[in-house]
Amino acid sequence: MDPDKKTIVVLGSGWASTSFLKDIDTKYYNLIVISPRNYFLFTPLLPSSTVGTVDLKSIIEPIRFTSRHKTRDIKVYEAECTRIDPENKTVMIKDVPSNKVKESERSVSYDYLVLGVGARNSTFGVQGVDRYGCFLKEAKDARKIHNRLMACVENAALPGQSPEEIKRLLHMVIVGGGATGIEYAAELHDFLIDDLRTWYPELADKVKISLVEALPSVLPQFSQKLIKYTEGNFRKQDITIHTKTMVKEVREKELVVKAPDDSIETIPYGLLVWATGNTTTPLVNDLIQKFPETQTHKKGLVVDDWMRLKGCEDIYAFGDATATRYAPTGQVASQQGKYLARYFKQLYIRQALEEQLKKGLGEKEKEKVEKKFERVKEIKPFHYSHHGSLW
Ligand code: NAD
Repeated sequence: MDPDKKTIVVLGSGWASTSFLKDIDTKYYNLIVISPRNYFLFTPLLPSSTVGTVDLKSIIEPIRFTSRHKTRDIKVYEAECTRIDPENKTVMIKDVPSNKVKESERSVSYDYLVLGVGARNSTFGVQGVDRYGCFLKEAKDARKIHNRLMACVENAALPGQSPEEIKRLLHMVIVGGGATGIEYAAELHDFLIDDLRTWYPELADKVKISLVEALPSVLPQFSQKLIKYTEGNFRKQDITIHTKTMVKEVREKELVVKAPDDSIETIPYGLLVWATGNTTTPLVNDLIQKFPETQTHKKGLVVDDWMRLKGCEDIYAFGDATATRYAPTGQVASQQGKYLARYFKQLYIRQALEEQLKKGLGEKEKEKVEKKFERVKEIKPFHYSHHGSLW
């Protein structure tokens, strides 16, 4: 830590924060990264890791690996940020449960705070989801799905199981017809139908995959062409789509749903993957409440086109923690991270030139500095460039 440099504290280690860290020039700032997960997770391959097509280790990159390649040291704390104090420019951090030490809360000061804490799974308060369902967001979720999936198949292969129990165990249900649910249903199908046939030939034909969606169609935010293509493909692959079907409760072995005709039905399942979208984290909610006049969006932090938090200009936010006109995808977050790294470099140069101009410079020198200042005075806003809908 160089006391002459300003300190940027980065919260999170997802798409936005990691691409920021990769590009930020440590010549100009001290950097501290705080995240409860000390690695970056390549999320597009998370579904494949649940079925063993890729190894979880191969889709993880330690943050210390990223920081090791910088010209100056970056401090990395594996901890959770529990509170932000914008007035005193500090954050409170707490050790993650796995490496708890005696004094568990500490404060870290910042000059600039860059917030990339993402979002968390939403359950819409449906009872039983946390207890019996599996999310698909973190590495631990992929491990849980893998274990449940294999337990279902092995249990179904045990002698003496009734046909109804085998049917239930081999019924894989995905709730939510957004990009996550659709991608996962397709991945599961490839594994169960292609790979399972080799290892459990007697069970392969008994496997059933269903997707439950509350709205009239899957992928509501995508084009009609893509919706039709997906529905047609799933039909061919024997994946049943239940649209206009709302899950009301999750029980240990069955779902309670409201069917399109408003009747209440139960659907027995072996594996349940819950993919009904995201909601804000408690840290983001807390920050929203601190700026009631400017933070008026329920879906995330409101920032301007330079990613400055509305209401507090020393805090920046990007990725899924924000509510912007862009979709909450890895592609957007990663471009935002790159942009913000460039922004901070320009900000440093601009501030340094401003300082020089305040000093009494000679006429010629002043003219030179003024010219340089003109070039960096205006920082361009973020512009997103779309490269396809794959991640
Ligand atoms: P989503 O919000 O896009 O979809 C969730 C779906 O669940 C909705 O259609 C909703 O109607 C349904 N739902 C909610 N409650 C329900 C209930 N009780 N019963 C039945 N259905 C219910 O969420 P997502 O798929 O997790 O995606 C989140 C964001 O991440 C999206 O913006 C998505 O585009 C993005 N994403 C992109 C990719 C990609 O680009 N490849 C992959 C994954 C996610």
